[in-house]
Amino acid sequence: MIDSYRHKGMRKQLVSELEQKGIKDKRVLEAIMNVPRHFFLDAVFTEQAYSNMAFQIGAGQTISHPYTVAFQTELLELKKGDKVLEIGTGSGFQTSILCEMGAKVFSIERQRELYLKANQIVPKLGYPAKLKFGDGYIGWPSFAPFDKIIVTCGAPYIPDELVSQLKPNGRLVIPIGAGKDQEMLLIVKEEDGSITKSQLGVFSFVPMLKETAK
Ligand code: SAH
Repeated sequence: MIDSYRHKGMRKQLVSELEQKGIKDKRVLEAIMNVPRHFFLDAVFTEQAYSNMAFQIGAGQTISHPYTVAFQTELLELKKGDKVLEIGTGSGFQTSILCEMGAKVFSIERQRELYLKANQIVPKLGYPAKLKFGDGYIGWPSFAPFDKIIVTCGAPYIPDELVSQLKPNGRLVIPIGAGKDQEMLLIVKEEDGSITKSQLGVFSFVPMLKETAK
């Protein structure tokens, strides 16, 4: 795998596109600049890897648009050392962005094929994320509570387990909707355990599936 000056140039272009679309967090933009997205894609997509597009990654799933990755990551308001749970490892790109920003990342994927692939590439890039093949609806109780939780598939509802695995002042970013489109929700758990929700626009994700694949 080669990360050439040309790839870096294309990434720079992508970063300015994301800035124009309203992404402000410099650390998010820096992480997009530093993580070679083409490493997470099939070689046939290398030329388009830095356009704001989603691509097939196998098992009927897609890597999220870079804008979506940047938007969700910005909403997390990450601090170095934050313990973050990701639901939907997929290609491992979002996982790597979180690691690049200094988070301690735990990520769950329900498609074994994708879990196995991500479990190769993420450590190869030097990111010490902890990955698991399993069902995101139940979260990861043995490592809970988390400072932040990010769901990268469209959930039909907010799983109670995820809210309960959030620390006080924690943030959960989750796209909600069972159809083609989802509403991006930011859920903040206040100090007293109460919840505030904000709606942040319409996105399109692959569905969060209920049963764990065999
Ligand atoms: N963050 C990924 C996005 C992949 S798409 C990336 O950067 O590439 C969403 C992923 O969620 C898919 O890989 C899909 O298999 C996974 N997924 C769907 N339902 C799930 C569930 N119940 N638990 C865990 N992962 C799930």
